[in-house]
Amino acid sequence: MKYIGAHVSTAGGLHNAPLNAHKIGATAFALFTKNEKRWEGKPLTENDIELFKQACDKFGFTAAQILPHDSYLINLGSPRPDSLQKSRTAFIEEMKRCRQLGLDRLNFHPGSHLRETGISECLKTIAESINIALEQTQGVTAVIENTAGQGSNLGHTFEQIAEIIDQVEDKTRVGVCIDTCHTYAAGYDISHEEGFKAVFTEFEKIVGFGYLRGMHLNDAMKGAGSRIDRHSCLGKGVMGTEPFRLIMQDERFDNIPMVLETPEPDLWAQEIEWLRSL
Ligand SMILES: [Zn+2]
Ligand SMILES: [Zn+2]
Repeated sequence: MKYIGAHVSTAGGLHNAPLNAHKIGATAFALFTKNEKRWEGKPLTENDIELFKQACDKFGFTAAQILPHDSYLINLGSPRPDSLQKSRTAFIEEMKRCRQLGLDRLNFHPGSHLRETGISECLKTIAESINIALEQTQGVTAVIENTAGQGSNLGHTFEQIAEIIDQVEDKTRVGVCIDTCHTYAAGYDISHEEGFKAVFTEFEKIVGFGYLRGMHLNDAMKGAGSRIDRHSCLGKGVMGTEPFRLIMQDERFDNIPMVLETPEPDLWAQEIEWLRSL
């Protein structure tokens, strides 16, 4: 089964996310469980939690169809002790929020070395952050998103993701989210069938589909290897339609939330319908 949706708004309350997803014909969605531009979120009340769970039930969304995304401020690989501490605390809070909401995974960008430390050192810090977070929480999987490799962001190669996972103690609660735009921008040319097959054979060998907990379906504005993170609407960027057709026809991508993070919410319903038609 393919679960397809978008990263929807929670304006007016978290319970509006499943409603917004339902309105665009989605069978999956992503959301921020708090303001993504702030360190702290208002604690969830019993009422917030109840309304969210009721709306998920009403519109038929289970935890396997929902992929929460953490705050953009968090850097679990920060070389600066104070910001690392702040990031770890905030990440643990977000993991706990997911648990309260009945959600079972949290998608995050691995981290940045800020050109103040080495790559392996930073990957080790990220793994330590995950270990600390898993120790202090229950039931929620930390889902590492591959990045475009813009600036000093790590996680743009499958090897880097594997290096993090290798150092995570509880491998049952660590996973991966593949963002198609990031994959392409990082230099994995999935825009044609041959490249797509080779890239995902490599992914299986280095990371493993067993860790795949979600997908972000985005076209890219910039070329393969540009390492520039600019999302485009499906079919309107430089990746073409082929990678999306291949994903939709490939059962290795079954039963995980696949969400659009494309720049025009007005087109989401159409994009979802188009993906289904493939
Ligand atoms: Zn992301
Ligand atoms: Zn993404």
